[in-house]
Amino acid sequence: MTSAFFAVILLSVSSDTLSSEQHEQPVFVCDEDIDRADITGVERELEDRLWDETLSYLRGVRDVLTTPAGCLDGPRAVTQTLNDAQDGVERRCITRYRDVELMIKHLDAVLEYPEAARACFDNQARYEAFQLYSPNAEMVAADPVATWINRPTLEDYYTDRDDEVGEAGRELAAHFEILLANTVSEHTVGSDVTFNGLPTLWRSVGWLPFYAESESGISPRFRGGYTYAEVMGPWGLLRIKSIDGETVGAEIGMTVQLGDTFYPYHYHHPQEWYITLTPNACVHGNEFAVMFWDNPAFNQIRRERGWRVEVPADDADMRFIEQGVEQDWLTYFERNAIHAFNVAGSCNGEPSGLVSIWARTTARDNDQTTRMCVVADSEGNLPIGPGVGFICELDDWEY
Ligand code: ZN
Repeated sequence: MTSAFFAVILLSVSSDTLSSEQHEQPVFVCDEDIDRADITGVERELEDRLWDETLSYLRGVRDVLTTPAGCLDGPRAVTQTLNDAQDGVERRCITRYRDVELMIKHLDAVLEYPEAARACFDNQARYEAFQLYSPNAEMVAADPVATWINRPTLEDYYTDRDDEVGEAGRELAAHFEILLANTVSEHTVGSDVTFNGLPTLWRSVGWLPFYAESESGISPRFRGGYTYAEVMGPWGLLRIKSIDGETVGAEIGMTVQLGDTFYPYHYHHPQEWYITLTPNACVHGNEFAVMFWDNPAFNQIRRERGWRVEVPADDADMRFIEQGVEQDWLTYFERNAIHAFNVAGSCNGEPSGLVSIWARTTARDNDQTTRMCVVADSEGNLPIGPGVGFICELDDWEY
C-alpha cells in the first residue's frame, strides 16, 4: 500500500499548476507488486513505446465497446449460441451489463489521465508471480522493446518437451507471427489494434502457456497450442487496483489458439468477452458455443453449494455457431456461462489459428479460477470435440 500511495503523491506534487482539472484527477491505486526500479533514458524511451501501444490497445477496446454496432450505444454480443427456448442465437447489447459499464468508465479514466495511470505500469521484465514468455527468438529480435525486456521464449520452453503438448507448442511458437499477422480489426473500430498496427505490444507483452502443465485442458494439441497475454488487469502490464476507491475489475488482453484444436467446455465466476480478429477463411471456420449454465439443453443437478451440469453429447451442432470478423465477432459470457471453442484445421496448407481480444470484467471478486468440465464418459474413445458429453461442477458465488 505504501508504494501505491507514494506514487500518487509524487504525481500530485510534480504538477506545477493547480488547475481545476487537477482537483478532478482520479486517485489511481496500483497493485503492490509494480516494479519501480529506476531506468535510464534509453530504457525509458523503449518503455514509452510499450506504454504508448498499451494505451492504443486500451483506446481501441474502449472505442469498440462504445461504438454503435447493432445497439444505440455499443455493439451487440452473442450471449448464448442456443437460447433458452432452443430456437436460435441470443444476442444482447453489451453495455446493458453493469460490469461492462464500469470497464468503460475505468478505461475512460486511464485514457484521460495517462500520466497518473502510468504509475501502475510495469513492463514485467522482472515479474515474480509467474514466468511470462515471448513467442520466439525471431519476434524478439525484430523489436527493440522485446529485445530489451528479454523474456524467455515459448520456442525454448517447448524445445525439449517430448510429447504431443510439446509438438503443438513448437508449432504454435514457430507460426506465431503468421497467426498474428493474419488478423484485422477494422470490423470493430477504425484503429488497428492487431499485431499489424501495434507490433511492439504484441511482441513484448508477456505470454503464458496456460495449459502446458495442466491436464485439465484434456487434448494435448490444445494444451500446447494455446496461450494468452494480459495487457491490463491484476496480472498484466497495467495493474490498477482501484480508481477513486472503486475496484477496477477490468482484465484485458489477447488469446491465440492454434488450428485443429478444441478448447473444452469451461466456466468461471468472472464475466468474459471476446472479439475475433482472425478472418474466417475456411469453409467450416471457427466455431464456439456459449450457454447459460441453467439452459434447458443441459441437465442441472443441485448439490451442496453448487450445481452439477451435464452437457449432452447429442445435438452439438445446435450449440456451436461460427465466429468471424463478418458476423458474431463479439461474444459476452455471463457468470458461470459454459463455453467452448472449436478452431478449424489448416486451410490450403497455411498455418491456421484464432487470435482474439480477450477480457474479463470482474477480475477482483469471487473465485477467478477457470474451471474445466470433464469428459462424461472417460472410457469412450471419441476424439475430444463438440460431439462429446461433458460434466461441469459449478460452485455458487457470493456478491
Ligand atoms: Zn472463459
